[in-house]
Amino acid sequence: MSLHKISLDPVARIALGLVALLVSLLMVVDLIFGLIPDRSDIAREVRQQISESLAVQAATLLQSGDMATLQSTLHAVLERNTDLRSVAVRQDGASVIAQAGEHGRLWQPPEDGSSTLTQVRVPVLAEGKNWGEVELTFRPVLPESLIEWLTYPTLMALVAISAGGFVAFYLYLRRVLEYLDPAKAIPDRVRTAFDTLAEGVMVLDKQGRVVLANKAFRNFHPAAQGDLTGRPVTELSWLTEGFHASPEHPYPWMRAMETRSNIGDETLEIIRPGEEEPIRTIVGCSPVLDGHGRLRGCLVNFSDVTVLHRINDQLLGTLVDLEASKEEIRRQNEELHRLATRDPMTGCLNRRAFFGTADPLYEKLKEEGAEVCCIMSDIDHFKLFNDRYGHAVGDQVIKSVAKCLGTDLREVDMLCRYGGEEFCIMLPGSTAEQAYDVAERLRFAIETNAGAAVRDIPGIRITSSFGVASIRLGAKDPAELIDQADKALYLSKQTGRNRVTIWTGEPEAAKDEVKA
Ligand code: GH3
Ligand code: MG
Ligand code: MG
Repeated sequence: MSLHKISLDPVARIALGLVALLVSLLMVVDLIFGLIPDRSDIAREVRQQISESLAVQAATLLQSGDMATLQSTLHAVLERNTDLRSVAVRQDGASVIAQAGEHGRLWQPPEDGSSTLTQVRVPVLAEGKNWGEVELTFRPVLPESLIEWLTYPTLMALVAISAGGFVAFYLYLRRVLEYLDPAKAIPDRVRTAFDTLAEGVMVLDKQGRVVLANKAFRNFHPAAQGDLTGRPVTELSWLTEGFHASPEHPYPWMRAMETRSNIGDETLEIIRPGEEEPIRTIVGCSPVLDGHGRLRGCLVNFSDVTVLHRINDQLLGTLVDLEASKEEIRRQNEELHRLATRDPMTGCLNRRAFFGTADPLYEKLKEEGAEVCCIMSDIDHFKLFNDRYGHAVGDQVIKSVAKCLGTDLREVDMLCRYGGEEFCIMLPGSTAEQAYDVAERLRFAIETNAGAAVRDIPGIRITSSFGVASIRLGAKDPAELIDQADKALYLSKQTGRNRVTIWTGEPEAAKDEVKA
């Protein structure tokens, strides 16, 4: 494992530094003001008192010659004082007369006859004269072994202050640095730069707390005004409600941080109080990694596409209008076409439209060798209706006859109002016999039904005469075919009206049949 990977958390390092400072400060204060009592001074004083009192006792016992009591007193003193290692009474620099502990080994006084903290000597005065000395060896004031050092109170206090201080500093700093973490703090110039962006930008830490929210973002909603730094993003309900997040589908920034990949396909509508139109945004999330590839947070940007949407809506509206006017134009065109190709009174094709279709069709059928027939029809004694009942009734008669003619035709047949009360029907693919049958059916239909449709004149009788011609007799174009059918019609008129005549080439040879 490389070293930098086990490096201390910055907060722990700062806490350690503070503990070191605190301990140093304590030591300086102690040095100047003697905060911690000097154990050597206390020990010296205590040891002096023990030694003095022992010397007084020894003098008394020596004067009474009670050596046994002296000996037991020394033992008792040694036992009662744990600091004391040995004690002896020496007669005037010569031999030891009573002792307790391993005095011979432990007694190493300074050469000049003075006392130290561990080697203490006190003169014993008997009858006003210097009789000898009480010698005492004490334990050193400072610890001698590691275990003693470890249980040394001053050291333990220091360790306790250091450990307690470290924990307290660490916890305190952690709390404070949530807001002031240098890693999270964003310099003012960066904030200003973000504020100049037209896009809304929000930077989150990895716990989902706001580290930065630029001006455009804060302008999205009245609740976003003010300082958002340190607030959990989940508190911004106006923002989070638009995402409809669930445990299966977390917020896009959480997904970006989890997957460590960019997310850019979310849309968000921000609804503002009192405003009808929401702000429509496209949301992009990019995880923020540090130099070691560790996740530090997420940058969330909001592109305001409200204007685009508005233009889009307007375009859609225009499209719908266009579609409507297209439909209107189509309808008007249809009407125009109908007016240009149909006779307004009967709805039949007019002559121009009839020949426009009939001419090329006739050419085609002729080439194919297919048969085509023409029926010409003229209302019998029409002039009489006009004369007797007036033009309006005459018009009704024409309409009624046209209706009868149009009822029983095929889709391919063409019905044309050829003249005032004359009609022409083109029957592509029909033989002369079939055309004759059609004409006969039409004749019968007019005779039977046309009169009833003229409501103004009840019981009026209307009949029409018919002429039929077929391409088989060599007509080179529709006009010639019509002419032949017209000649057959003329024969019908001549031979009594209300009948069908087939053109056979010669007027006298024309086949005619009287049906009425
Ligand atoms: P026939 O049996 O020989 O055909 O006798 P007819 O009276 O029908 O003879 P004709 O063809 O001479 O008469 C046609 C009349 O139709 C002449 C004209 O005044 C009239 N007419 C033509 N067009 C219209 C129209 O649109 N409306 C009305 N009411 N009359 C029309
Ligand atoms: Mg006529
Ligand atoms: Mg007529």
